Amino acid sequence: MNLKCPLFINGQFIETLDKQNIINPSTGKVIAEVSLASAKEVELALASCREAFDHGPWPQFSLIQRKEFIFKIAQGILDNAAGLAQLEMQNTGKPIKETTFMDIPSSAKTFDFMANNFINYLDAEDTHLLEDAKAKLIREPLGVVVLIIPWNYPLLIACWKLASALAAGNTVILKPSSLTPLTALELAKIINNAGVPAGVVNVINAPGVKIGELLCADKRVDMISFTGSNEVGRQILQYSSKNVKKLTMELGGKSASLVFGDTDLDVAVNSSLVSIFLNQGQMCTAMSRIFVQESIYEKFVASFVQKARALKLGLADDSQTQMGPLISDAQRKKVVAYIEKAKAEGAKVLCGGKIPEQAELKNGYFFEPTVLADVSAHSHIFKEEVFGPVVLIHKFSGSDEAVSLANSVDFGLAACIWTSDLFLAQELAKKLNAGTIWINTYGMFYNQLPYGGFKQSGFGKELGREGFLEYTRIKNVILDQSNEGKPLVNYWYGF
Ligand code: NAD
Repeated sequence: MNLKCPLFINGQFIETLDKQNIINPSTGKVIAEVSLASAKEVELALASCREAFDHGPWPQFSLIQRKEFIFKIAQGILDNAAGLAQLEMQNTGKPIKETTFMDIPSSAKTFDFMANNFINYLDAEDTHLLEDAKAKLIREPLGVVVLIIPWNYPLLIACWKLASALAAGNTVILKPSSLTPLTALELAKIINNAGVPAGVVNVINAPGVKIGELLCADKRVDMISFTGSNEVGRQILQYSSKNVKKLTMELGGKSASLVFGDTDLDVAVNSSLVSIFLNQGQMCTAMSRIFVQESIYEKFVASFVQKARALKLGLADDSQTQMGPLISDAQRKKVVAYIEKAKAEGAKVLCGGKIPEQAELKNGYFFEPTVLADVSAHSHIFKEEVFGPVVLIHKFSGSDEAVSLANSVDFGLAACIWTSDLFLAQELAKKLNAGTIWINTYGMFYNQLPYGGFKQSGFGKELGREGFLEYTRIKNVILDQSNEGKPLVNYWYGF
C-alpha cells in the first residue's frame, strides 16, 4: 500500500489526522489510505463552496467560458484513462475490461456532452404579455449543490452529476461512498490541473452516517443530488426538510425483463445474463426478475443456467474475468441472507447460491451467479432489491400477465422487452411503469437521454436536457409597460 489520498477543499489538498484504509475486494488487501473529513472539513467545504458561488467567477462565466475548463477536465480523464481504470478496478472489484471500456471513457464523454449541448437553455427568453408588460425568463445556476455518490459506479455517476452541475454554473461538494473514494479524489487533481477556480469543486470523504446530516441539513446548500439506497434517500429527505432545498433522488430498483416466445432465444439468453451479472449484479438497473413466456420457458431456463454456470469468476485485474467480487464482505452477507430467506419462502436454487471454492478467490468477496425458480410473487426476493448476482426466472402466459407481474413491485426504474413483434413491444412500453424501457437490448445509456426512475426508484433525472435543467432555476423578470410609466397595479388602490 503506498497510495495516500487527501481531501480537496477550496483548491487545497488537505490531509487529515483521521484516516481510513481502502480495501481491494478481489484480494481483501489494503490498497490506499484516505483522509477522513470531520465536522471541521465539512464546514470548510460548505463555506468555500458558498463563497465560490456567491462571490467567485464561476457562476458569472458564460457557458462558453466554463466550457474551456470542462473540456480540460474531459481531456484530463482521457489522458489518465489507464491509471483511472486500474484504480477503479482495484477499488470496486469491477473487471478491468469494464472499467477500461465503460466507466472511464463514458465519464469523459459526459463532460464534453454537457458543455456542448445546452447553451441555448441558459439564454434569457423573452415572453410577450400582450401590450401591458414585457417579461424575460432567466435561467440561472441553482447555487451550492451536494452530490452524493454510491459505490457501484463511483467515477461515472460522479461525472454524470458533476458535468451537468458545472456546465450549468453551480459550485459543488462531491461526496463519494467511503468504500470507493479513490477515483473521485484522483479526479480532484484533474479538476485542479484544469484551473477550475478554488471552491467550485470540493471532494470530501467520510461515511455518510458521520457527515450526511451536516451536509444535507445546512442552509448554505441549495440542492442535493443523491444516488443510493432507499434507506439513505429517506434519511436525506428528513435532513433536508430542516432547511428546504431542491432534491433529486436516484434510488433502488427491482427491474423486470419480459421475454416473449417469438424472440431470438440465444440473443435473449446472452443479453439477459449481462443484464443481471454485469458488475456482479450491483446495478440499480439490474434485471433481477426475468419473466419468460411459457412456450420457451424450459428452453430459456436450461440455456440460461448452463451459461450462468460457465461465467468466469476471477480477479478483477484479469482481462478474461467476466464476474469479479462483490464490493465488501457486508454486501456478500446481505446477498447470502436474501438467498436463505428465499429458500425458506419456497424458492429453488437452480445454480450458484454460494461462495466459490477456488483457492485464488478465497481472499476476495466473490459469490457465484445465482438463479432462482419457483419464487412466489409475494416473497421478499421477488419484491426487494438484493444488489448482487441473484436473478429469479418466472413463467407467464400472456402479455397482460407479464406487465402486471413487472409492475407489481414498489420500484419503477427500468425494464426490458424481448420480442420480434415491435408493435407489441411499443404498446407494452407504454404500460410498463418504469423510467427506462429497453427493447431487444439492455443497458444502453446515452448522454442525450434523461435517465431516472418512477415510484420508489426516486425522482428527478440524470443526463439529457432534463438532467442538465435539474441543476438550474428559472426566474421571471417583468417590466410594466402600461399607462406610460404608471403601473397597472396602482389601479387597485385608486392611485
Ligand atoms: P448507500 O445509500 O448506502 O450510499 C450512497 C451514498 O450515500 C454513499 O456516498 C454514502 O456514504 C452516503 N450516505 C450513507 N448514509 C448517509 C447519510 N445518513 N446521509 C447522507 N449520505 C449518506 O448506497 P450504496 O450502497 O452506496 O449503493 C447501492 C444503492 O444505490 C442501491 O440501492 C442502488 O439501487 C442505488 N443506486 C441507484 C442508482 C440509480 O440511478 N437509481 C444508481 C446506482 C445505485
